[in-house]
Amino acid sequence: MKITVLTQFPEIFAPVMGSSILGRASDAGLIDVRAVNIRDYSADRHRKTDDTPFGGGAGMVMTPQPAFDALRSLGAEGKRVLYMSPRGRMLDYSLAEELAAEEEFFILCGHYEGVDQRIIDAWNMEEVSIGDYVLTGGELAAMVLVDCVSRLIPGVLGSPESLSEESIYSGLLEYPQYTKPRNYEGLEVPEVLTNGNHKLIHLWQLRESLILTKKRRPDMFAEYVRTHNNLTKDEKKVLDDVLSLED
Ligand code: SAH
Repeated sequence: MKITVLTQFPEIFAPVMGSSILGRASDAGLIDVRAVNIRDYSADRHRKTDDTPFGGGAGMVMTPQPAFDALRSLGAEGKRVLYMSPRGRMLDYSLAEELAAEEEFFILCGHYEGVDQRIIDAWNMEEVSIGDYVLTGGELAAMVLVDCVSRLIPGVLGSPESLSEESIYSGLLEYPQYTKPRNYEGLEVPEVLTNGNHKLIHLWQLRESLILTKKRRPDMFAEYVRTHNNLTKDEKKVLDDVLSLED
């Protein structure tokens, strides 16, 4: 998958894209993320990319020329172009899955006050938000998006089952995880996890997931109860038990 990010601060991307899972995925050729400096496309003598807003107000707005020229010369015509923006569609797992199926897309990062509306309109950009708060620039938001999309690409994570069992993707929040040692300063790992009975372990994990989800994300819990009609008898018993618990 090829992702081209247009930004005034491409250097922000290098450490994130070069480290850990994303770094390995790049080395393996599974993802190809390019951060392009939009200033390089500015026709201005001082490589300016922003100007004051018409109508007044604080801050600077990205001018159309560098963005149009960059998008044209990078071949974005007819391609999916996202603009990171607090006004946008909220990034969630369904959008991440949708993007993971693409071969190529572009991301524009705004900075300061944002970008001239004509850039968004003429390039038919999809605005995407990473949450109800305002960042100083779209770079961190773009990296969040690239990160969560990348780990859905086959081969990027070690084992594919780590995906389907995870929070959100499984329809539930994840159960608590423990590692060695079994006893740390008197704090014990739950007994059931250490006895090697996989069926009991599975039912314990399901129960913990259900309890946590019911408490923290009642919306997600209700959806799970509505859609999971294929539970085994034992799983159904666990679910009925959790349903009967007082909040
Ligand atoms: N004046 C704009 C906010 C500009 S914030 C407004 O009120 O809508 C500067 C840049 O940060 C934006 O151009 C956008 O690219 C990015 N940004 C800020 N908050 C964001 C969020 N929640 N999600 C995605 N991008 C965001």
